[in-house]
Amino acid sequence: MEAGADLDVAVVGAGQAGLAVGYHLRRTGLGHLLLDGSPRPGGAWTRYWDSLRLFSPAEHSPLPGWWMPEQPGEPFPTAGHVVRYFTGYEERYALPVRRPVRVRAVRPDGDRLAVEAHTPDGPRVWRARAVVSATGTWGRPRTPDHPGRDRFGGLQLHAADYRRPDPFAGMRVAVVGGGNSAAQILAELSQVAETLWAARREPRLMPDDVDGRVLFDVATRKAAARREGREADGVGALGDIVMVPPVREARDRGVLKAHPMFERLTGRGLRWSDGQEWECDAVVWCTGFRPDLEHLAPLVAPGGDGTVPTEGTRLLADPRVHLVGYGDWTGPASATVIGAGMAAKAAVKEIKALLEG
Ligand code: FAD
Repeated sequence: MEAGADLDVAVVGAGQAGLAVGYHLRRTGLGHLLLDGSPRPGGAWTRYWDSLRLFSPAEHSPLPGWWMPEQPGEPFPTAGHVVRYFTGYEERYALPVRRPVRVRAVRPDGDRLAVEAHTPDGPRVWRARAVVSATGTWGRPRTPDHPGRDRFGGLQLHAADYRRPDPFAGMRVAVVGGGNSAAQILAELSQVAETLWAARREPRLMPDDVDGRVLFDVATRKAAARREGREADGVGALGDIVMVPPVREARDRGVLKAHPMFERLTGRGLRWSDGQEWECDAVVWCTGFRPDLEHLAPLVAPGGDGTVPTEGTRLLADPRVHLVGYGDWTGPASATVIGAGMAAKAAVKEIKALLEG
């Protein structure tokens, strides 16, 4: 394995979270690189379904230092617009991103951390004084091991592999899951296919006037309440599903009605515990993601929910490692564009203090 140069900080992943970390690192004078496994900029936004829009207007989703430009004619920007913004952001700040570089493992190596990666030129290892993990969740789709899954003769896919409705035209399609992915995919599939929505618990729709702005405020209040050891008022009542225009339209058409979770899949469809059956051609599992943390295996084993113990963004098992993005467990709304900026700032401040202290 080729030995790479020594570095102060290696950032693993250059989606929105990694870029925000890069922005704050370049102001510290610490030597750093962003190692990203994808062939092009944009992180998970390059892989979403074609119709996906931001939950909020552009001005509410800034990375640090430079606002997302508005998208003409689109109050809620498309994923393509977000990718163009991130691409421009990397260029504007000349962020030192190397891609495609997939980090396989981060392991202790004396007073350094060995960052072992696959590059287009073969395996390579960097020795860093600190590491920020910003690998997101999109690479780890979660499909439950539901009874009969291996018996079903139709098509099964996870939301991570869904792009557009037309291949499903005329089919009978079950959409499984109670969150935003399920609601958005169901909304468009139901225009070309006969759909059935199944969820473990009744999906909770937010009021029509709640968008990403409110969600961000709520996440911040929730984190403050958690720090003070109390429940955040009224947060639970808000619901889970943001009523973006296509989802609202599906509700008004009457298709946004969820059935309880079926007991098992059969060769030809779904079966509930009371014996009812629904034949279908395809099942789309919108059943979430786990943090993509395989490269940290030499340092820490994830718990049952896929997270690892942290204090803020700092990994408890090794204070030289920080995690940015992923979800509220690494900072309020840290999986959103605006929240990633705050988590990144906090992580870089701690790393600077550690390395200069
Ligand atoms: P990612 O964007 O996934 O980037 C991680 C990068 O790390 C990728 O480029 C990946 O290739 C790379 N990587 C992974 N593993 C490795 C490795 N081992 N080595 C090297 N590189 C690696 N957020 C908002 O702010 N507003 C919204 O309106 C919004 N809407 C959403 C709607 C839906 C339906 C979904 C699913 C998400 C939405 N989000 C929204 C959330 C947001 O898109 C994601 O949380 C965000 O993309 C996460 O950013 P990230 O940088 O943490 O991870």
